[in-house]
Amino acid sequence: VHFGDEIVSREEKTRRVGGVFSSVARRYDVMNDLMSGGMHRLWKDRFVAKVQPRPGERVLDMAGGTGDIAFRMAARGADVTVSDINPDMLAVGMERAEKRNLDRLTWQVENAEKLSFGDEQFNAYTIAFGIRNVTDIPAALREAHRVLKRGGRFFCLEFSTSEWPGFGELYEAYADNVIPRVGKAVAGDADSYQYLVESIRRFPRMGEFAAMIEEAGFTQVRHQPILGGLVAIHSGWKI
Ligand code: SAM
Repeated sequence: VHFGDEIVSREEKTRRVGGVFSSVARRYDVMNDLMSGGMHRLWKDRFVAKVQPRPGERVLDMAGGTGDIAFRMAARGADVTVSDINPDMLAVGMERAEKRNLDRLTWQVENAEKLSFGDEQFNAYTIAFGIRNVTDIPAALREAHRVLKRGGRFFCLEFSTSEWPGFGELYEAYADNVIPRVGKAVAGDADSYQYLVESIRRFPRMGEFAAMIEEAGFTQVRHQPILGGLVAIHSGWKI
């Protein structure tokens, strides 16, 4: 499999992705603001508005990291389990939750490819800016389907490829020149941010990813582009 532009074993990719997020965990939130000019907040608001978590619903926020999506869903009264493969990211999230006095959240280390939950446990499954880091994406999608109840909803927020003329090139120039430099200056880590840029480039296009979600057993799969598809929300139902 690819790690950036290198070919590595599956185990090595999972290990290196772990290194990337352990390295950036402490500066993760401020970096998101810097790199997206604060826009990630709007994308996350829009994503959660689409998920429409209802009070008392059980939601699994996979690759939940430092809790941005989970906090928004808990604010709407959902019972959220935040899972991530990386304990350093979850630790930052738990500290943030404590500061905000949020106690409806459960934090649990999990690999999206192989979950410890039983079948048909959750009303909704969310994954934001997480799936492209997963080594075996089809396995993660099958696990999402397995742990959802019948009538459960799947939602994914992820970078994709903008189909607006000229916009894609503009973004590429920004990604290549600005992101690793800011990563170096602020987080002291250009390589991690170089990996993140490469992982966005390699992620399948919107239609292709929608087909993968269907392949995992979901129906009514839809995608909604943001900024022409620079970012996209994919959704599907388990029936
Ligand atoms: N969802 C959060 C957000 O939107 O701010 C965090 C996104 S962060 C860019 C990606 C997260 O995916 C990291 O916390 C990383 O540890 C996690 N991740 C990577 N591979 C994973 C896997 N196989 N299973 C679960 N989480 C994984």
